[in-house]
Amino acid sequence: MDDIFTQCREGNAVAVRLWLDNTENDLNQGDDHGFSPLHWACREGRSGVVDMLIMRGARINVMNRGDDTPLHLASSHGHRDIVTKLIQVKADPNASNEHGNTPLHYACFWGQDLVAEDLVTNGAQVSICNKYGETPLDKAKPHLRDLLKERAEKLGQSLTRIPFKDTFWKGTTRTRPRNGTLNKLAGIDFKQLSMLAKINENHSGELWQGRWQGTEIVVKVLKVRDWTTRKSRDFNEEYPKLRIFSHPNVLPMLGACQSPRPDPIIITHWMPYGSLYNVLHEGTNFVVDQTQAVKFARDIGKSVMIDEDMTARISMADVKFSFQCPGRMYAPAWVAPEALQKKPEDIPSADMSLCGSW
Ligand code: ATP
Ligand code: MN
Repeated sequence: MDDIFTQCREGNAVAVRLWLDNTENDLNQGDDHGFSPLHWACREGRSGVVDMLIMRGARINVMNRGDDTPLHLASSHGHRDIVTKLIQVKADPNASNEHGNTPLHYACFWGQDLVAEDLVTNGAQVSICNKYGETPLDKAKPHLRDLLKERAEKLGQSLTRIPFKDTFWKGTTRTRPRNGTLNKLAGIDFKQLSMLAKINENHSGELWQGRWQGTEIVVKVLKVRDWTTRKSRDFNEEYPKLRIFSHPNVLPMLGACQSPRPDPIIITHWMPYGSLYNVLHEGTNFVVDQTQAVKFARDIGKSVMIDEDMTARISMADVKFSFQCPGRMYAPAWVAPEALQKKPEDIPSADMSLCGSW
């Protein structure tokens, strides 16, 4: 069978759906050139596949090796419906690639007039310079140039050239696809883990920052009294259920292993910004503006992790296993992603936690 990148490129919706339904697959992985499945579907105009990937939590402003976002590719190739979709889900219309080109530079260069108009209507700057000092207007044929100029002026854009600035239009970090090999194995070999620094210790266990197969991870060593074969069997049955990749607000557990200690261990991605609490109270190098605050407020909680692309994600590593909550009924149903899609006010607070606080 072809790989997921080929399936997305060719628009094989059925195959892509099957692949996405397998919770072991990570839709934010990249190929050898750093193209994510969303890059390919956007480049080739596969609208159905694009919808599916977005619904399942594909990162929108992800960049390939050349710093192109999916919006760059959809714009260059004139896929107007996809450009509209991407903008609706907050694709950055002024993202610049390694040449400093924005999606609008390409829409203008390739004569994708309608796409160029849509981009400008949605905030793309007509006078932003690339690394070589060229603006999108410089790239456009005369008729398109006149049209875009008029449109931009009506929208209150200044036509003064905006000099190229390396990181001005980007966030503080770039969003890259992940290494695909990470998600093949749920069971991880303890010997391959490097535990670099202990970052916390509490009643439920120890938290370590570390690396695994070239990826920055967080290792939680669970504290369990009387670790028995029975508990070990429960652990092995329960942890695979936590590897959910189908919701943007869920930070999935990467895997688990049993250390020689013999405490069980669960592993997640390292989130550079830490928890929402860290972001709000421990001063980081970015400002949480109104829009971002509203976005965060929707997924309140101390264990909502902030991913490098500023997505708030509930950490599946905080989920308690049955043996950590003796006396409580273990209800796997709450793990269902549907529960997370409800508006926060629809969910009684008891549903948000298995036992105790998140
Ligand atoms: P609990 O044991 O109930 O989960 P807790 O969430 O307060 O309690 P830890 O899970 O040990 O304790 O987390 C401690 C802190 O480590 C978090 O508040 C957060 O700042 C940071 N942290 C947790 N997970 C990650 C992660 N994946 N990436 C980066 N930082 C993390
Ligand atoms: Mn935690």
